[in-house]
Amino acid sequence: MNRTASQALFERAQHFIPGGVNSPVRAFRAVGGSPVFIKSAKGAYVYDEDGNEYIELINSWGPMILGHGHELIHEAVAEAAQHSFSFGAPTRREVEVAELIVSMVPSVEKVRMVNSGTEATMSAIRVARGFTGRDKIIKFEGCYHGHGDSFLIAAGSGAATFGQPDSPGVTRGVANDTLTAPYNDLEAVRQLVDANKNHIAALILEPVVGNMGCVLPEPGFLQGLRKLCDEEGIVLIFDEVMTGFRLARGGAQERFGITPDMTTMGKIIGGGMPVGAYGGKAEIMNWVSPAGPVYQAGTLSGNPIAMAAGQAMLQYLNAHPEVYSQLETAGSKLAAGFNKSLQKLGLDYTVNQIGSMYTLFFTNQTVKDFPSAKTSDLVLFGKYFHAMLNRGIYLGPSQFESMFLSTALTDKHLDLIIAANEDALSEVLSL
Ligand SMILES: *Cc1c(COP(=O)(O)O)cnc(C)c1O
Repeated sequence: MNRTASQALFERAQHFIPGGVNSPVRAFRAVGGSPVFIKSAKGAYVYDEDGNEYIELINSWGPMILGHGHELIHEAVAEAAQHSFSFGAPTRREVEVAELIVSMVPSVEKVRMVNSGTEATMSAIRVARGFTGRDKIIKFEGCYHGHGDSFLIAAGSGAATFGQPDSPGVTRGVANDTLTAPYNDLEAVRQLVDANKNHIAALILEPVVGNMGCVLPEPGFLQGLRKLCDEEGIVLIFDEVMTGFRLARGGAQERFGITPDMTTMGKIIGGGMPVGAYGGKAEIMNWVSPAGPVYQAGTLSGNPIAMAAGQAMLQYLNAHPEVYSQLETAGSKLAAGFNKSLQKLGLDYTVNQIGSMYTLFFTNQTVKDFPSAKTSDLVLFGKYFHAMLNRGIYLGPSQFESMFLSTALTDKHLDLIIAANEDALSEVLSL
């Protein structure tokens, strides 16, 4: 596959952009080689600068759950664009979007729009700290909550890939207020809480992890956290930036039947535009400025074009429950197909899958936390990634990422992916 145009652009990019990219994982460092520069996308396909076509499983890391260039979202954005791009004043659509989110996400009684998932999580812990009058937070190793200082501690995917879980520039003071526990280890959390009695403001987690690859909560884990937080007056925050509107209409909290105190959202909520949101119990959200004393603001927050895209997306998902049954079927089919191929090839690798999220881990261990994810053969994964790319399947360029299915994937696409997967695996094993 000729990728000379992409290579030339990457060459140029590195002179003017740190590492040549505006977000680290895009640079392909974890898999080697030169990144693909995307020119356009439609449905299940992306097209690069050299004119190559790929079936894709990144979908902008989640937002494009309906595939690329969905008509309704296009039309909503085109219509909104006629009325200017930003006002810095309230609009009708923000009210409608807030009402819609509250109606869809069980834990959310009030919601504030921001411009990214990072902003949502940063703001949520500030509110939790204001509300509880406590300083410390607990997060889990391998969970990623955006690039806010407080979260760049054992932070999964991008950071993990570079073996740099603690970023320079994060002060010791900030790091001291972030406590970490292994995912799925309720006992470790209990011990942290006991050792820091009345100092924990919030416990934040991905209710299903996407950022160390796809990792599921074990039975009882989310329930146990809910109970512990209730007993200790800790604000339980589900970071549903990835899982929100994906694992169910109301996110992982609907799927698992656990209601957190606060929820952070992003990705799908903007339909591909830069949007995030945080919400929760009215009692807590009323602490947010100007209703309450916790300051949080944004010049472009609730941007009319972004809200138009998000509204069209959420309205569609709200009205079409068959989206979720289609994605369930697609996810199961893919996992079953992969497992069949693994068996055929005599491999005991691990496939973690739930709904439209999955990761093929190059390890025979059960992957339930970050240490087990890290037993994967990263060199082999890199080879596999390129073998898939050369077969026209564009995967997330790191072992520590979840893939995201969209409704644009037909049975034919899924069969192609399963066949390419088997083919790519046998190629890299014979090298
Ligand atoms: C992507 C992600 C974020 C950060 O969102 P950005 O929009 O990239 O700032 C936070 N939390 C989770 C779980 C994510 O997957």
